[in-house]
Amino acid sequence: MEALVRQNSAFSTAQQEWETICQLLKNEYGEATCKNWFSPLILVSYNEGLVQIAAATKFMRDWITTNYGEKIRDLWQDLNPTIDTIEIIVRQVTLAPEPIKHYPQAPVIINSDESDGRPNFVESALDSRFTFENFVVGKPNELAYAAALRVAESKTVQFNPLFLYGGVGLGKTHLMHAIAWHIKTCHPDRRVIYLSAEKFMYQFIRALRFKDTVAFKEQFRSVDVLMIDDVQFISGKDTTQEEFFHTFNALVDRNRQLIVSADKSPSDLQGMEERLKSRLGWGLVADIHPTTYELRLGILQAKAESLNTPIPKDVMEFLAFKIASNIRELEGALNRIIAHSTLVGRQIGLEMTQEVLRDLLKANDRRVTIEDIQKRVAEYFSIKTSDMQSARRSQNVARPRQVAMYLSKMLTTRSLPEIGRKFGGRDHTTVLHAVKKVEEIISQDKEFSEDLEILRRTLEV
Ligand code: ADP
Ligand code: MG
Repeated sequence: MEALVRQNSAFSTAQQEWETICQLLKNEYGEATCKNWFSPLILVSYNEGLVQIAAATKFMRDWITTNYGEKIRDLWQDLNPTIDTIEIIVRQVTLAPEPIKHYPQAPVIINSDESDGRPNFVESALDSRFTFENFVVGKPNELAYAAALRVAESKTVQFNPLFLYGGVGLGKTHLMHAIAWHIKTCHPDRRVIYLSAEKFMYQFIRALRFKDTVAFKEQFRSVDVLMIDDVQFISGKDTTQEEFFHTFNALVDRNRQLIVSADKSPSDLQGMEERLKSRLGWGLVADIHPTTYELRLGILQAKAESLNTPIPKDVMEFLAFKIASNIRELEGALNRIIAHSTLVGRQIGLEMTQEVLRDLLKANDRRVTIEDIQKRVAEYFSIKTSDMQSARRSQNVARPRQVAMYLSKMLTTRSLPEIGRKFGGRDHTTVLHAVKKVEEIISQDKEFSEDLEILRRTLEV
């Protein structure tokens, strides 16, 4: 009895040590690796310097032993020098299909048929926020969105593959996850696998090492929809490319849906074999264009709404105007100002936004042109951009035009005659008059001067 108690308390100490180690591993390798590899491990026994940890599958055991075994032992010895051996064993925990709402936190293990001894393989985790509902559609991404939705909703293969491409942070991964979520929810009988190209590579390399390539291929047999994200990472790796090509052909022959993403169009993928490039371009190639101001504003509004944080309109306009690089950065900027405001209890406003995001704004700086100013001012006052050049003199058009002239003088290095020419060939004295007029109103009308301040800030280089 006493021995048992002693053993139990030793076990609970070991359990605490194991939790600490998991934390250290997480710090070192990041959240995703931790979620995929370490969280599913279970401490099973602890006895006289020997620790046993259970992995769910043979594949995981091998992977962890090879890649992290020594690390875990070293960390454990630092904490507790009496430990000398860490043994990773297989204890098959058969995971029931995860209910979707738990999926992102759950270990991402696919139990292929255990009984025939084939290794299991690991797919990449899905982000629960990346759904169709959370995807804001605009001109730059409408084709990719429509194609993704079609593939997700359809039970028959429409185009194979669907090839999504576009610059970094524009929503490729979001759309792929959205397809996976949709299929998991609406067609749970269909088997869908989402894999980053890097994971595909790791697994293939591992299969080569363990002379297990047949099993590697086998695991894709029962897949209805296979998605490989960022295939540009496969370029240059000849054997992986070869294998990818075969897997690809085998699935297409079986009429399974393939969805592939990359940062470039198939024909622009460098270091990629010609036959693979051409094969990738066989289906539907949908590109995601750089964002527009409208799309960025739409995304910010949706995001602020989902976070339940009211953001002043001028701040959103400012961010949408200034952070044009990509959506990831835009979201990052919004998160930063919200975090800042929560932490220091400061209201979100233009001034603080500029302060908090100084470095980011600098990186996104670009030279402002008269055309930019005309467009921006027209948007702000809800008039047509063409009215900047038109002869119309009604106040609701003439005033914004004067504002745009004033800002052109303030924010560009153009001369008065040059500015006049861009405003429908007006004379330089007209521009001068506009500048004076605007200055005069600024000094008298507070609301007007605030409007102008917002415009100026959003255009400022
Ligand atoms: P990519 O894979 O093209 O590099 P991601 O799909 O990872 O880009 O998108 C980057 C971030 O921007 C993600 O947080 C994603 O949710 C968000 N995002 C991208 N496009 C949209 C969109 N149209 N609507 C809402 N969020 C988007
Ligand atoms: Mg991506």
